Amino acid sequence: MTKADSLETYRKKRDFKKTKEPQGSKSKKSKQPIFVIQKHNASNLHYDLRIEVDGVLASWAVPKGPSTDPSEKRLAVRTEDHPMEYADFEGVIPEGEYGAGTVLVWDTGTYQNLRENKDEPSDMPQSLDEGKIEIRLEGKKISGGYNLIRTGPKKPEQERWLLMKADDDRADARRNPVSTQPESVKSGKTLEEIKEEND
Ligand code: MN
Repeated sequence: MTKADSLETYRKKRDFKKTKEPQGSKSKKSKQPIFVIQKHNASNLHYDLRIEVDGVLASWAVPKGPSTDPSEKRLAVRTEDHPMEYADFEGVIPEGEYGAGTVLVWDTGTYQNLRENKDEPSDMPQSLDEGKIEIRLEGKKISGGYNLIRTGPKKPEQERWLLMKADDDRADARRNPVSTQPESVKSGKTLEEIKEEND
């Protein structure tokens, strides 16, 4: 997939006359690359981890959300690249549309590619391609090193990866932010409150 058409799948899945999700018209690049984790109450509740790579948001659906415990491995299924503007999206995707349900911005911040300074450095596109990502997140709820490792075959959609907390200064087996900090870092609202507002 080339850079120019990496949002084609995203756009094909959506009817922008019906959903308020962004179309991703402008390609922008952040000074420091960003990440976002969106809590999404679709047919199944999951957490969408998105990290900026080459002007788009590379994305994974993580059913259980991120853990702060390095001994936990969380399944992360790769989904289509999303436009940068999606990082701010919070609201309701209408019934009948792709991903119908409520979305909140559960955490966001910047990240650093930890493989860029290694003996054999790897940039983010290369890490994605190799199926081996090592990043350090600076969010409000989630921080420190995380590893994403592809475990199944490389394919256009639904690649299986594992998300793991690195065993570093931010590792903490006692924290469980997914259950103790359910609200949006953007609005302070819960999924229920966002849904009510849109009803
Ligand atoms: Mn989702």
